[in-house]
Amino acid sequence: MSLTVLMNAGPWLSVPPPGYGGIENVIATLVPELRRLGVRVVLASVGTSTLPVDERVSVFPDGQFSALQRPYNQVCGVAQAHLAGVARELHSRDDIDLVHDHVEAVGLATLAAMGPDAPPALHTLHWDLAKHPALYGHLDGGDRVRVNGVSASQLARAPQALRDHSVGHVHLATPLAVDAHRRPRPPKGRHVVVLGRINPGKGQDVAARLAHRCRFPLVLAGPVGPYHRPEDLAAAGDEARQNPDVRFFLDEVAPHVDGDRVRWVGTVAGQDRDDLVASARVTLFPLRWEEPGGTAVVESLALGTPVVATARGCLPELIDHGRTGLLTDDEEQLGELVLAAGGIDPAQCRREAATRFTPAVMAQRYVELYERVRQLASAR
Ligand code: UDP
Repeated sequence: MSLTVLMNAGPWLSVPPPGYGGIENVIATLVPELRRLGVRVVLASVGTSTLPVDERVSVFPDGQFSALQRPYNQVCGVAQAHLAGVARELHSRDDIDLVHDHVEAVGLATLAAMGPDAPPALHTLHWDLAKHPALYGHLDGGDRVRVNGVSASQLARAPQALRDHSVGHVHLATPLAVDAHRRPRPPKGRHVVVLGRINPGKGQDVAARLAHRCRFPLVLAGPVGPYHRPEDLAAAGDEARQNPDVRFFLDEVAPHVDGDRVRWVGTVAGQDRDDLVASARVTLFPLRWEEPGGTAVVESLALGTPVVATARGCLPELIDHGRTGLLTDDEEQLGELVLAAGGIDPAQCRREAATRFTPAVMAQRYVELYERVRQLASAR
């Protein structure tokens, strides 16, 4: 296939990301498979990105993630400087067939404003947008610019202007899903794990409370705001409370953390993360927000660990209730479901991941959407 795609990862983190980085991880998972399918990829990112691609474009030498903590106008300034560089690149050449953009609302607005001579664009929505309609507003120049979601539920909740320009959804994928059903199975321990940023939407307070009530050992893995290790948070002192996720952890979660039945281990990465999840009895998602894509959910299936979750956001699309996990609308029921999840076959979880959530499946679906976006643009 002769298709050249400019993949706009934005200025925040290198690709692949050095640690946490949801969007950058999605791109790092997608691009190798696209190239295997014959797509040429021009990566617009920062200078420190190491993902193998056909060409690179960058404005900033390294990731500008710390700018996201600064006032809004400075955040926009960084995004706009990056996007101006991307726009210059697009204007200076005519071999880019399509832009695949991942830069929040500003990326979409810039692409829409670039005028009819710019290549068609597909913008992937990564967040739960129902709470942020103003961020996107209306979409000008829209026939050339299309959007896709990472789940049907995310799209259904998105502002109307975005839904009017949607070409569908593509579920997230994980490299762990490749041949997941053929990999050796580590022995299961007794623990339950919650994997994700510590945040009210992810519901670690519910998990901790239920662990004590239903007597199961619980491991909370993930950062609290900018703190990746318990000792870093302990050393940070009172100033750390300025961060809302730190306040949530200290006020709502920490009182249940006894270092025995309930532990917070900070961010776990690489093989440690995979071992922790693969040896868990259950991965628990006591969600209070509408999870848009759920990378950690598909990772859990790929590692052969059943999922117990509130039936919010994309969870009913990813989890087959009774076969790969158990879902409920009532968070108080989650504790009983954790105990009941012993009936779910880990091998079935792995098979499901190997069929539905591999990078190859995701890339194939994106290639279909690229074709669709180009057809829609040329039909105008
Ligand atoms: N993650 C990790 N270590 C942790 C906690 C989370 O590697 O201690 C990873 C997790 O495996 C997943 C990502 O962070 O790949 C979280 O993505 P997800 O879509 O689940 O949630 P988000 O944070 O994007 O809402």
